[in-house]
Order: sequence, then C-alpha cells, then structure tokens
Amino acid sequence: MSSVKETVLEINLAHLSHNFDYLKSKVAPHVKMLAVVKASGYGSDASVIAKHLENIGVDYFAVAYTSEGIILREAGIKTPILVLHPQPVNFAKLIEYQLEPSLYSSRTLKEFIKVATLQNQKEYPIHIKFNSGLNRIGFWENDVDHILSQIDQTNAVHITSLLSHLAASEDHNEREFTLTQINSFKKSADQISNKLGYTPIRHQSNTSGILNYPEAHFDMVRTGIGLYGYGNEAKYDTQLKPVAALKSVISQIHTLEPGESVGYNRAFISPGYIKTATIPIGHADGIGRQYGNKQGFVMIHDTPAYIIGNVCMDMIMVDITEIDCKEGDEVIIFDEASSASKIAERSGTISYELLTAISPRVKRVVRR
Ligand SMILES: *Cc1c(COP(=O)(O)O)cnc(C)c1O
Repeated sequence: MSSVKETVLEINLAHLSHNFDYLKSKVAPHVKMLAVVKASGYGSDASVIAKHLENIGVDYFAVAYTSEGIILREAGIKTPILVLHPQPVNFAKLIEYQLEPSLYSSRTLKEFIKVATLQNQKEYPIHIKFNSGLNRIGFWENDVDHILSQIDQTNAVHITSLLSHLAASEDHNEREFTLTQINSFKKSADQISNKLGYTPIRHQSNTSGILNYPEAHFDMVRTGIGLYGYGNEAKYDTQLKPVAALKSVISQIHTLEPGESVGYNRAFISPGYIKTATIPIGHADGIGRQYGNKQGFVMIHDTPAYIIGNVCMDMIMVDITEIDCKEGDEVIIFDEASSASKIAERSGTISYELLTAISPRVKRVVRR
C-alpha cells in the first residue's frame, strides 16, 4: 500500500468481510446478523460500512439515534434499521424514514403509539427493550402486563423484536451475573410472547456475547466492535482484522538542546540533545490530551515514537531521537500491526473510545 501524504483514516472493506464471516461462523445458521453502525460506524464511515454489509448479506442494522438512521436511508440503505435510543421528539421523523424504534419505557411506548396512530400507521415495526441488569434503559421484567395493556388497544404497531443488553459479556469473572441476565431476558420474552400470540425475534448479545455466550444468541445477534476488528480479548483480536487504520505524516523535524521545552505550557523539557517530529493530528481530530506526555505513541518505520508534551488541537510532537526518518515520512497512529486497543489501554481507555473519537475532519479513504 502506498504511503499517505496527509492524515487519513483508511477503511479496509476486505477486513470488514473477514470479520463479518468470522462472527457469522460463531452463530447457528438460523441466527440473524445485526450490524451496529452507530457513531459513524465506530468512527469510520457508517454509509460505506452499511453498503458493504448490505451487499454481503447482513440482516439488520442498528444505530443509537434517529439522525444516524436518516443518514443511512439518505445513502440508499434499504435493510431494516433499529434505532436503539430514540427520543420522542424525533418519532415523526423516524417514521418518515422507515426507521424502527427500540422502545424502552412506558413513556416512549405511549408516545410512539400516539405518533403512529396520528399518522394512520398499521402494524408499524417496533422493538421492546428489557433491562436485564445493565440498569441503563429498558422495561423491567414485571412491566410485561403493562406493555401488553398498551399494545392491546392499538393496531398501529407490531412488536417485531424483543431485546436486552449484556453488561459484562467480555468479563469472565462476571459469568454468573451474565447468566442471570440471560435468564431474566428469557423470562420476560417468554411471558410477553405467550400473551401476544406470536413470537417476536429475540436478541441480547453484543460482540462479546457472540464470542462467550452461545446461550444468549437467540434469533439474532448484534455486533459492533467485532465487525470493526476488535474482540475485547487477545485470543479473539488475533482472529479479527482492524477495519480502520489511522495514518499521518511527519510535517517537520526539530533538533533540541538540553533544557528546551516542547509544546504548550512547556510540559516537556528536553533532558538532552533530542530530535522531535511534529505530526498533523491533534485533539480536534480525536487524539485526546490523555495520550500526551508519553501515554500514547505512534509508529514510524515500525518503531514506537512517544508523544511528548501536551497534545495540541491540530498537532502532536513525538520523540524520534532513535529513529532514522525524514520530513514527509509516513506515521501510523494505529493499524493492523499496532492496534487501537493497545494504544487505548495504555492511556486507560478502550478501543471503542479511541475509534469513535476520530473526528469528521480526518479524511476517510476506502480500500476495497
Ligand atoms: C453498542 C451496542 C451494541 C454493540 O456492542 P459491541 O460490544 O460493539 O458489539 C449492541 N447492542 C447495544 C444495545 C448497543 O448499545
């Protein structure tokens, strides 16, 4: 692959196909695949990712907010799109774009039925979210009768699926807790299905649920981070391929004498004669200040170069004293070999945060 001339996020669609196939191989043939493409496809490009997945046979998409679903529809995506966390103020728009709400409370269910009825909708697909222990959003197990009493009075909506979300599917120490979540969801889903007279699709697993809890696969699984190449565990990371690679270039090289400082607030004072490289990427691009002061590094000619001083809005400075490089040379912030999860871990965060922080200012380049 030719080296880049400015900061770019490369999106590798062959890797996306690989990850999709790998995750699909982990579930039974009848289990549907839902791809989570919220937060711009985990910081990449939701439309590019969704189009490719639509071509290779994904069954469903999910986004967090209505506005994200609208972007996909405007890009021509025809596959059903679940909106995980919609607000009632957007319900009319949501219907206009044929998006499907996850309804998680008495208030949201009531409001949605009201809007759907006003619009003369019949059997509009909705999804009922149960809280099985994450305590974030969702109905409780004992809300089933209440849900049914609201549904029984209308034919404006139809329950297409029942869902819940695991709190710690990547943490093997929380196995017992996760099993109680699976049981709680089963109970809620059984109760509501028995009384409805039809059986909505059930889904509870995120990526780590797919990998660690076959008993939580039900009829569909929702994968986000796995599709983008991260498995929350070394043994799965080696099977998956990062879809996004963040690359840049050396803008300028400086030679400093002992006692000279680098960057704002003079946070770095040179201990000796050193060489620094300035890279055109900063906190406005998604490389947060937590990566400054040697918490983060970039790769130059396969060698780590640590970030010195504070991260600026549009630049970082790295120590290249021991690296044979010149202005214009390529810099890797993360890619297949130097993974986002390792860099994230070093500064106390997770791949999800580093990936989704890459701002729209960074040019996206698709590799097919
Ligand atoms: C974000 C999200 C997912 C995807 O989780 P991953 O760990 O990225 O696979 C699945 N379900 C819900 C409800 C989510 O919010």
